[in-house]
Amino acid sequence: MARKPMMAANWKMNKTLREAEDYAAAVIPKAEDAGGVDVAVFVPFTCLNEFARMTADTPVIAGAQNFYFEDSGAYTGEVSAPMLLDVGARAVLIGHSERREIFFESDEMVAKKTKRALDAGLIPVVCCGETKEERDSGGMWDKIQAQIKAVMDAVDGDLDPEKIIFAYEPIWAIGTGDTASPEDAQDAIGQVRGLLEELRGEGFAGSVRILYGGSVKPENIAEIMSQRDVDGGLVGGAALDVESFGELVEAAK
Ligand code: PEP
Repeated sequence: MARKPMMAANWKMNKTLREAEDYAAAVIPKAEDAGGVDVAVFVPFTCLNEFARMTADTPVIAGAQNFYFEDSGAYTGEVSAPMLLDVGARAVLIGHSERREIFFESDEMVAKKTKRALDAGLIPVVCCGETKEERDSGGMWDKIQAQIKAVMDAVDGDLDPEKIIFAYEPIWAIGTGDTASPEDAQDAIGQVRGLLEELRGEGFAGSVRILYGGSVKPENIAEIMSQRDVDGGLVGGAALDVESFGELVEAAK
C-alpha cells in the first residue's frame, strides 16, 4: 500500500501564543496546497488549545510534544491524553530524544505512553535513535531495536499501521546541523521497517510510516525523501519559520 508522506514540525519549547496564531494562519494554506502530503505541527501545551482551534477543519494536524499515560490524579506538572483530546490535539510526539535524555524517559515509559495514546485515539509519533557514541561503538542497532521492541510489545497485536508513526532521529543529528546522509537514513529506517516486519508482518511494516529527523532543511530534504523507506520528516529548527516549513512541505509533494 502506498504510504502518504508526512512533514511534521516540532516547535520544542518555542513560540508565544501570538506567534502560534500567526504560524497557524500561515500554515493552513500551505497544508491545503500540500496535495498528497500530511502536515502536522507539534506545539507547546500553552499554544495547543488555540492552535488546534484555528486549524480545526483544515488539513493541519495539531499535536502535542508529550503527555503522561495516566488520565488524571496527583501528577503535578503533567497533562493526560484526555486533556490533549479535550483541546483538539490529534497526535502526540512520544519518546523524543530530548525527553529521553533530559527527562530520563525510559523505553518502558515510552511504551506505556504509546499504548495510552493509541487507546485514547491520538496518533503517536514514536521517536527512536542513537547517540554518536552508540553509533561509533557499534551499539546503534541494539539501542534502536530495544526502543522499538518495547513499544511493539506493549501495544495490541492487531494494531492498524495508519494509527501510529515512527520517527528515526539520530541524536547526533538533532539541532546540530549535522544531518545523517540519505544512505544512513535509509539504512536505519530500512532496518526499523525490517524489524517491524519481523514483529508484525509484511502488511503492517509495508504500510506504517517512518519519518527521518535530524537537521532536515530545505537544502537536504529532497535527497532524504528520495530514499525508499523514508516517508517524511520530523523537523525542529527549520520548521520554526513557517516559510521554511512550507518549503519542506513543497519538497515532500
Ligand atoms: C527534532 O526536534 O525532532 C529535530 C529533528 O530537530 P532539528 O530539525 O532541529 O534537528
